[in-house]
Amino acid sequence: MKFSWMLFASVIWSTYAPASTFIGNGGNMLDPTLRRILNTMSAALTSAKDNPEDVCACRGTSEHCAALEVLSEEQQKYCAAFIEQHNEELASLIKPSSGISHVWVEDRLSDHKQHRQADAIAQLAKKRIILSETKFRDLNDAGRLQLLTHEYGHFLIHNGKAIEDQGSIGPFKGADGGRQLLDVVGAALVVQARRSYALDVDDSRFSGAFYRWRISYSNADQSRAQSFAKPAFQAQNATVTHFSLTYYPRPNSQLGYSVRTSGVEKDGHGSQKAGVDSSFHLWVNYLGLEWRGILMPWSQGSWASNIHYGLFMGAGGGSVSHKISDKYNTEIQSKDVRGGLAELSVYFPLKYGFLASLGIGVDYTPFKLETINVQNRQPNSQISYGVSYGF
Ligand SMILES: [Zn+2]
Repeated sequence: MKFSWMLFASVIWSTYAPASTFIGNGGNMLDPTLRRILNTMSAALTSAKDNPEDVCACRGTSEHCAALEVLSEEQQKYCAAFIEQHNEELASLIKPSSGISHVWVEDRLSDHKQHRQADAIAQLAKKRIILSETKFRDLNDAGRLQLLTHEYGHFLIHNGKAIEDQGSIGPFKGADGGRQLLDVVGAALVVQARRSYALDVDDSRFSGAFYRWRISYSNADQSRAQSFAKPAFQAQNATVTHFSLTYYPRPNSQLGYSVRTSGVEKDGHGSQKAGVDSSFHLWVNYLGLEWRGILMPWSQGSWASNIHYGLFMGAGGGSVSHKISDKYNTEIQSKDVRGGLAELSVYFPLKYGFLASLGIGVDYTPFKLETINVQNRQPNSQISYGVSYGF
């Protein structure tokens, strides 16, 4: 049992160490995805240098290709020249050394100047980009790349001034010519990122780690340290079933609130000679807090960058009952119990909002059933596996 505690402590320690530097950077759940998209943009810009004339030309059915296909020849040429001219400038703007910061807000933004709802706003004077985390979460990587290209595009100096959404620029005429141009440049970088395999052509969307609610079911085998009165009794492993519901106040929140129910079932049979049967039931409802974080914040793949961990710690109460019977007697005793549970789970993204989980946990639920002389004074450890749904 001491070994289990040490193993548990070392797992917590080893995951907490990188997590704390991540938090220290002002990080939150969406930051690794943001950094990954900026790296994709950088790769797209590098690849755009190979054939600068064709960057804004595309034939295909994808949304971003279609946005390029409708351009006039003049607009295509202008877009390509724009990207060639500002390639280095844009590449250096998206580096952390540019000093442009990102601010996450929960809802969509209302742009008072323009009287419209926006997914993001670039504030040049404050050198920051305000992003709607709900919108950013719901976009796929291509949409995120287009959005970020547009916002960073506002920081480019074109013909001596910053690019605004309003007003025409070159062949992009009309009241929102600037916005059109930046959207087209964003679409061109999406297409370029796909051409250079920096972005998956198949935008298969693994479940993100940015849900607000998570429902989980998990299962574990547990070897319980428990004393038995009947010496002939053969102890068997207990089956543990957990159900939990966790709520994070925002898609970006790392700290959430969790309720979970845990049931332990254990049946045993004595040797034929002794003929003792036993059944044990323990259930506990826990209330607790859960801390989550991206396991590999540096990862570049959309699957790997959504692998995350959750550390639950909670306390609660429930009841225990134990029945021991042989040919002649049946003894049964029930009692209320209190206990605590700590569990560290790693969640692997599947599709359609589902996640697979693997967890290591320790529960401490001491009790003593005097009548049948069964007691448990030690923590029990378990390795669980399960499935969750985040939304
Ligand atoms: Zn804009």
